[in-house]
Amino acid sequence: MIYLVEHFYSIQGEGRYTGTPSLFFRFGGCNMKCEGFGCTEVAPNGVKVLGCDTVYAVNREHFLQNWIPIKSSSELLNILNLYDLPLGVDIVLTGGEPLIYASEPVFVEFLEALHADGHRITFETNGSLNVDFEQYPIYKESVFALSVKLSNSNEPFGKRVKGEIISSIALNAKEAFFKFSIDADSITAGLEDEILEIISYAPKTGVYCMPLGGTKEEVEANTQPLIEFCKSKGYNFSDRLHIRIWDQNRGV
Ligand code: SF4
Repeated sequence: MIYLVEHFYSIQGEGRYTGTPSLFFRFGGCNMKCEGFGCTEVAPNGVKVLGCDTVYAVNREHFLQNWIPIKSSSELLNILNLYDLPLGVDIVLTGGEPLIYASEPVFVEFLEALHADGHRITFETNGSLNVDFEQYPIYKESVFALSVKLSNSNEPFGKRVKGEIISSIALNAKEAFFKFSIDADSITAGLEDEILEIISYAPKTGVYCMPLGGTKEEVEANTQPLIEFCKSKGYNFSDRLHIRIWDQNRGV
């Protein structure tokens, strides 16, 4: 079963396509927890849950009652009719981790229909789940924002960095780029080595570093040290416009 958490029309707030009007589909579920990011949210059952800034789209145990079960691709496609969208508007599939559904027939049908209608499809993914580009050629037509997790996520290395998957996505996808979430305290020589190791699996792929944080205050505190880090390493700085402008992740 596929679960959709929310959909909204906004501008892309981060990465290579920052500022591009985009329709977002946020899917529920993830293969990680990233409790190291230290964001908390109170679930409908009153439990305070620790995780990343989209913990409400990750933690099935406590947030499932707010997730929408999807049984057919037309349920997803009909969502486009709810908005007054420009022709061929960008579609961003995010989560949670949208690629947990990569082999679901309903999900693949949805992607194929979007592509046939001329939409650019971008996955916001942690880059740790295998994508079968031969069985599902639609993924060769898609953009992958590879938000590979660093040690600041507190996930084990073997779970968050899968070199062969990163290489396969960079090789087969229409386009891919790295997107790292970094806080000021993590900017150390160790961080540099971590990033170098990850990008070695796809050396020609662009690198964007974003300030970590689920609130405007956190993003702003991490921005300036991160800009200095990007300047010294030659990486692209990416803002997180949606958090800076609206001070939240949900629905923007
Ligand atoms: S991989 Fe992404 S969505 Fe999943 S828990 Fe980590 S930060 Fe959140």
